[in-house]
Amino acid sequence: MDYSKSDVQCKILYEASPKTTGCDKCGQINGVRKHWCCTEQQPVVTLAEFHYLWKTLDRDRQIEIFKKTISDLLTLAEDEFLGCPFYNGHCSIYDIRPLECRLFGIEPAKVKELRKEKTVGSYEPCDIPGKTVTLKQYSILTGYRNRIETDLTRRVLEDTTIYMFQHILVAAGFSMEGFKELRDRVDEDIPIEQVLSEALEKSKL
Ligand code: SF4
Repeated sequence: MDYSKSDVQCKILYEASPKTTGCDKCGQINGVRKHWCCTEQQPVVTLAEFHYLWKTLDRDRQIEIFKKTISDLLTLAEDEFLGCPFYNGHCSIYDIRPLECRLFGIEPAKVKELRKEKTVGSYEPCDIPGKTVTLKQYSILTGYRNRIETDLTRRVLEDTTIYMFQHILVAAGFSMEGFKELRDRVDEDIPIEQVLSEALEKSKL
């Protein structure tokens, strides 16, 4: 697939997005649960945006992220949340983070309320005083992002807006079926290090 046009469009989108100090202020707002949005949930990312960030990583970094993703997925306890693999004390791809991350915490009240409903139990407010986008600005930015995706895929039948970890598995050549085989290996009490090295061998990284 040719991503050259969508790469340019993503750059335009991010330049047009509001600049915030949201993550820096997060500690003051959410205290010990600072950065909970990055550590307890996965951003929803379009294919165009995922490609835009993934191609900036060299192979070693892609392998590192892939292994972290697999490891987190395989070792996640029932009462734990799956965080973003790009978080390591801070966002490691901050300048090229997806739109959803850029708008998080500064969405219009209507959108924030909707998110609150969807994340019952884990939601804590991220109110950044003086920083918010209007519903109109929000619609323009998300509308443009969705148009990039439609332009890219030339189809809207299949949803290419998926969670970060799913993009990473696909980029590494893994189907969900292939991932289930790794889970079976863990259930057979095979050490996680061995399962990770098997996963890497099977991957196309
Ligand atoms: S991409 Fe960055 S900002 Fe977005 S969830 Fe991951 S670590 Fe957080």
